[in-house]
Amino acid sequence: MKELWDIKIIREILERHRFNFSKSLGQNFLVNRNICPAMAQEAVENGEVSAIEIGPGIGILTQELALRAKKVLAVEIDTRLLPVLDETLAQFDNVEILNADILKLDIPSLIEEKFSGEDVVVCANLPYYITSPVIMHFLESKSRIKSLTVMVQKEAADRLCAEVGSREAGAVSVAVNYYAEAQKLFNVSKGSFYPQPKVDSAVIKLTMRREPPVEIKDEKLFFRVVKAAFSQRRKTAANGISSGLGADKSEVVAAIEESGLDPNVRAEKLTMEQLARLTDCIKDRI
Ligand code: SAM
Repeated sequence: MKELWDIKIIREILERHRFNFSKSLGQNFLVNRNICPAMAQEAVENGEVSAIEIGPGIGILTQELALRAKKVLAVEIDTRLLPVLDETLAQFDNVEILNADILKLDIPSLIEEKFSGEDVVVCANLPYYITSPVIMHFLESKSRIKSLTVMVQKEAADRLCAEVGSREAGAVSVAVNYYAEAQKLFNVSKGSFYPQPKVDSAVIKLTMRREPPVEIKDEKLFFRVVKAAFSQRRKTAANGISSGLGADKSEVVAAIEESGLDPNVRAEKLTMEQLARLTDCIKDRI
């Protein structure tokens, strides 16, 4: 197995393939030998699953997933990396590379086609320019995904894993919490990447829930309310919701009071249960 964490080996492979890093595709490759085995182990656990990887790069994490999972489907957007991956993953017969933009793939159909009926986990060192869209793409897909073990920028990790009802929480923390249980696993310093990015990273694990933690009459409205409530962080939830939903502020305040809350409450103070109750009251009134 090629030692793909060794910067000399990476340079030799990339020079031979005349590859230049693309900043716009978030190409910062891992050069720390300890990270990928730990991520793959967390993702695959007892090995009874297959894995989807987003953005294999030159295959450093793909190798570790291939050693542990039944099958690995690695989705890479950059065509220039395909011959590199053919070379670095040649010894594995349980890896398939798909040249595609992950955000353009329909996840349930992909899982049906590639893994008919098997449990699937997601594991990736995510391209940072699309961290939240990729995570939401999987969370909302209502597919057979068991968990997502992903590396993201440290600040994004804090936001994604923030407890709903705490100062750090945002609309994305509520969305993550609705679909999954979030856990921050470990930090990764910026020196672990080549080229080196400006900020540190962290690995998080989102374990999908079987049922949402709260019951809501209208799921779509819930996410509209949450987005609106958190859109103006310095203002009250009432202001954010009335402008976000284009609703009369007095009606929004009445719904907030009806759900037993202070009309001046800010979104980051609200728990999942309170947001759910508020959405139900808004649905009945507006
Ligand atoms: N897994 C490698 C590692 O850990 O060294 C590379 C990770 S690098 C941060 C992100 C990878 O995602 C790059 O290989 C990049 O080309 C790929 N990528 C960027 N946007 C993508 C997209 N929309 N769909 C699939 N892959 C993408």
